[in-house]
Amino acid sequence: MSYTIIEVCNGCGACKRLCPANAISGTQKSLHVIDGSLCIECGACGRVCPKQAVKDSLGRICTAVKKSEWEKPVFDHKKCNSCVICIDACPTGCLAMSGAMGKDKHGKPYMKDDKACIGCGFCAAECPVDAITMAKPAAKAA
Ligand code: SF4
Ligand code: SF4
Repeated sequence: MSYTIIEVCNGCGACKRLCPANAISGTQKSLHVIDGSLCIECGACGRVCPKQAVKDSLGRICTAVKKSEWEKPVFDHKKCNSCVICIDACPTGCLAMSGAMGKDKHGKPYMKDDKACIGCGFCAAECPVDAITMAKPAAKAA
C-alpha cells in the first residue's frame, strides 16, 4: 500500500522536499507522483500538503497540520531498555543515544534534530516496551 496524490495537486513541491524516502517526483507546478514501491507510509506528505491533494493508503484525504503542531516523541527513560530500536526505526535520523546516564551505562534516546522530525510515530510504534508516546509540543507560555 502507498499514499497517492490526486489531480488537485498544484505542484508546489512541499511533499517532495519533505519525503524521507525520496518517493515523490514531479516538476514545479505539475502533478506530483508517489512511487508506491518506495513509499514508507510515514504520512509527512499528507501533513504538509496545503491543497489536500494526498490520500493515505486507505484512500482517505489527508488534512494539513501546521508543522509547529506535529506530534513529537516523548521518552519515558524509566521504561526504556536502551535497545535502540527507535533510532533504527526513524526514517529521518533525528534521534540519537545519549552517553551513560547516572548508573545506566547504556544511555537513552533523545531528539537530536527536532526540525528533521516529521511526526510519523514510527519510533513509538516500534518501541517494544512502550517507552515512547507521541504528543503535540507543549504550548509556549504567553
Ligand atoms: S525502542 Fe524503546 S526501549 Fe528501545 S531504546 Fe527506544 S525508547 Fe528505549
Ligand atoms: S516521529 Fe519518531 S521516527 Fe518519526 S521522524 Fe520523529 S523521531 Fe523519527
